[in-house]
Amino acid sequence: MTAKILDGKAVAAEVRAQAAQEAARIAVQLGRKPGLAVVLVGADPASEVYVRNKGRSTVEAGMESFEHKLPETASEAEVLALVQKLNADDKVDGILVQLPLPKQIDSNRVLNAVDPAKDVDGFHPMNAGKLATGLPALAPCTPVGCVIIAKKAHGSLAGLEAVVLGRSNIVGKPLAQLLLQENATVTIAHSRTKDLAAVARRADILCVAIGKPEFVKGDWIKPGATVIDVGINRIQKPDGKTKLVGDVAYEEAAKVAGAITPVPGGIGPMTIACLLVNTLRAACARAGLPAPGI
Ligand code: NDP
Repeated sequence: MTAKILDGKAVAAEVRAQAAQEAARIAVQLGRKPGLAVVLVGADPASEVYVRNKGRSTVEAGMESFEHKLPETASEAEVLALVQKLNADDKVDGILVQLPLPKQIDSNRVLNAVDPAKDVDGFHPMNAGKLATGLPALAPCTPVGCVIIAKKAHGSLAGLEAVVLGRSNIVGKPLAQLLLQENATVTIAHSRTKDLAAVARRADILCVAIGKPEFVKGDWIKPGATVIDVGINRIQKPDGKTKLVGDVAYEEAAKVAGAITPVPGGIGPMTIACLLVNTLRAACARAGLPAPGI
């Protein structure tokens, strides 16, 4: 069997196009463009690239992008003051604080200071709690992207066995909640799970977010299963150059799976597309408008 490749780039482009249409409609109703503020503290090169891409995608979708850069030496009080200012700014519908933050800053304190109504990353405990109790919530972008891709492969996820490897607050746990909302039967596995391979083999949908290059092997996968690989790992090739790989050994997995997301070009592009959607959701909810139809 050779798996169907689930092309995250193409799906993300569809979602971004829908977001642009909705942004134009919402801008008319709001009398201004929906706005996303991104806070970058320090000069981590990877974070700078992410922030630049987020800004560009926001503008391309017809929304306002506000970039705020603070130096590596910024104090927690300075970051908190900026977050408060953005919370109070009516032109800002979404606030994203780029992680990781420098050591002197408590990330939880900063994330918890973001107004939950503008928390487009979905990391605030209020949104995590709403998601867990089935209330309308801003859910984290990467897991939302995973579910969109899984639904592209399967249509309905109801009754399917879903296994999530990884239990972080950013990916694993919210992804499990979203799959549960789709009526999948969900198992969460982690570093203390006994016989991870056997648990993984139960999955009709196997979602992997552990941060270990090519950790999941072909014989961990049930023939015909859908594999969603969230991992992004940079490894060195024999020629000394580097390349990106996922948490799944792609070549062997693709021989067994029914469908699989590649790395790069799978879940990665979905994250920014879903950030745009979350910004529109936040803008509509704040203004009492119906939620965007995406
Ligand atoms: P974390 O490091 O926060 O969490 C990793 C999880 O994997 C933990 O729950 C950990 O278990 C589990 N784990 C680690 N080692 C093993 C193991 N040997 N066996 C079983 N479980 C294990 O990572 P994130 O969730 O933040 O990210 C995971 C991956 O996804 C990373 O590669 C990251 O780069 C990528 N990522 C990609 C995004 C995208 O846009 N595509 C966005 C976010 C992340 P335990 O809790 O027991 O320690």
